[in-house]
Amino acid sequence: MRLLIDTAKSSRTVLLVVGTVCARTTGTITLQRNCARNMSTHIKDIPVIRDVRSMRDFSKRLHRASQSIGLVPTMGALHAGHLSLVRQALAENDHVVVSIYVNPTQFGVNEDLNSYPETWDSDIASLRTLNDSIEAQRVPCASRISAIFAPTTKAMYPLQPPTSEIDGPGSFVTLSPLGSILEGASRPVFFRGVATVCMKLFNIVAPDNVYFGQKDVQQTLVIKQMVRDFHLDTTVRILPTSRDADGLAMSSRNVYLGVRRRAIAPILYKALSAAAECVASGHRARVDIMEAAREVLLAEQLRQAKLDGEHRVLFDVDYLSVADRESMNELDQIEASKGAILSGAIKVHALEQVGPDELTGAGGDKIAVRLLDNVLVPAS
Ligand code: AMP
Repeated sequence: MRLLIDTAKSSRTVLLVVGTVCARTTGTITLQRNCARNMSTHIKDIPVIRDVRSMRDFSKRLHRASQSIGLVPTMGALHAGHLSLVRQALAENDHVVVSIYVNPTQFGVNEDLNSYPETWDSDIASLRTLNDSIEAQRVPCASRISAIFAPTTKAMYPLQPPTSEIDGPGSFVTLSPLGSILEGASRPVFFRGVATVCMKLFNIVAPDNVYFGQKDVQQTLVIKQMVRDFHLDTTVRILPTSRDADGLAMSSRNVYLGVRRRAIAPILYKALSAAAECVASGHRARVDIMEAAREVLLAEQLRQAKLDGEHRVLFDVDYLSVADRESMNELDQIEASKGAILSGAIKVHALEQVGPDELTGAGGDKIAVRLLDNVLVPAS
């Protein structure tokens, strides 16, 4: 069976041989003619799909052709960490769908939904560049980013406007107690929102594999539990945290950090690394491990406290944790055979005073930034 496919711009034609070996030309195999009806946008060779039916049709056609699909869910504002997930997905699937959707239900009522960075043009440019680089390598049958799924909120939450209220109406996926500890204690609707939107995405895209970053370790466990408990037919792949050279975990929210706040931002990773070194040197008791991390954070807080408002950066420690690698329950003692997750979150406050020549981040360093990070203690 042969399908003749062309891009919306008719710039080139690609031949897909279904049921035998995929015959990929330099063009992108996207089955675009079939999806074009409901597509509201089309960016060069990567179609942008905005509604559920088109996304489903797209996936169904690929599955019928025995093509595998990897899904990388994101909220946009893409950075190298996101792209590392996409690269891995490309290595492991015939087709990759990147979703870009800022999901309102995972933001609490007082959280930063309205100020969450939106960088649509540069996101699309990054994904196109990645596709172009694959094309330039001319590897036969290499996978491409085959679609960007960027649904509207009406498409994702059809019945009513989504709520951020904890008791608000709606259909939600909750995972208890995993979703209400640590990050979930600080952000009570967060994991409900994440699990709900991922359930929707998985149902719509029907991916064979889904890709998540180790950076959000509790999120990875929530997703794994959801997939297991609801018998979802997908494999969860977790990839290492991408970091800047000084150790700061890449994050979309880092754009809010101007030079002054950016300089102290790696402190959380330093603290967790100190805790990990403490474990590596033979300590197993929670008190010792916590102490190693706290010392690093406290020393920085004291150093900052001595400076005046035009020079200092104030931050609070939200939590530090030494936890089980599956349940994230706190441990008094690390068992060598099980390992542990060392994690934490700090809130870097808005600057009190900004100097006239100071290089500020997006939002003028007036937005508090919550940083989270983790380091794994491997089982031995
Ligand atoms: P977000 O757009 O922040 O919701 O993140 C989308 C996906 O990218 C999630 O699976 C994150 O865990 C992952 N991610 C975010 N930052 C990083 C990073 N620095 N390294 C690896 N993965 C990341």
